[in-house]
Amino acid sequence: MLVSSKIYLKDAYKKGYAFPHFNYWDSNSIRAEIAAAEELNLPIILAWAEKHSPEIGMDDALALGKYFGSKANVPVMLHLDHGVSPDLVKKAVDSGFTSVMIDASDKDFEENVSTTKDIVEYAHKRGVVVEAEIGHVGTNSTEDNSKYTEVDAAEKFATETGVDSMAVSIGTSHGTYKTGTPKLNFDRLQELRKSVDIPLVLHGGSSSGDDNLRKAAELGITKVNIYTDLANASLHASEVQKYDTEMDLAFAQRKAIKDLCEHYYDVFETNKYEYRV
Ligand SMILES: [Zn+2]
Repeated sequence: MLVSSKIYLKDAYKKGYAFPHFNYWDSNSIRAEIAAAEELNLPIILAWAEKHSPEIGMDDALALGKYFGSKANVPVMLHLDHGVSPDLVKKAVDSGFTSVMIDASDKDFEENVSTTKDIVEYAHKRGVVVEAEIGHVGTNSTEDNSKYTEVDAAEKFATETGVDSMAVSIGTSHGTYKTGTPKLNFDRLQELRKSVDIPLVLHGGSSSGDDNLRKAAELGITKVNIYTDLANASLHASEVQKYDTEMDLAFAQRKAIKDLCEHYYDVFETNKYEYRV
């Protein structure tokens, strides 16, 4: 069934665990991700990213999300990931996403606040929750690309926008890392957790190291975004052997994605969630 993420992230915030956010890009990936959630009887956040539009557009992603999400026998949150255009984010709110991210983190503080506030007002009237980003999580790289979120700015941002959850930058980055496991700034995370009273989100979870991610979940991160590792698991499954049929290949890819999803549920200690359906 499709649900809002509000009560789930609040539960994680109170108890020190995180929900995995898995991006999907086709029917194979979404089926594998839901299968993992059903196997463990835990809620799932399924996300489509605006930047994946060239591969799969919003309408198609929404159709897949609604179809597979409503028939799943666990709670499914359907999330718009990195909505950059406010018009697209509003369309996502109107079309059935239960949660949206407005990403104006590359703009200056005031513009990030005003863009986010506008989306929060629009979405809340329609019962949809909003995630925004403060500080910027970069791509593929080294520490220089990720500027740590400042505590005062985060506090001010949360108060001024009324946003439901906030993505913070503590040293992860999108994509794969060139130089091994990143070093995360846990001190900063703890300061943020103390000063900001809404759930915090970590982007760029892929290949960030299981110990790092578990600790981040324990210290205040309530949602960890995973995409690259899942796409790579699917790709590697297609490379390790030759398959007799297309069906065999698709099955192997689903299995690789499902196994990895289950692994991340374990890392984030999502089984601390209590209200099972
Ligand atoms: Zn992200």
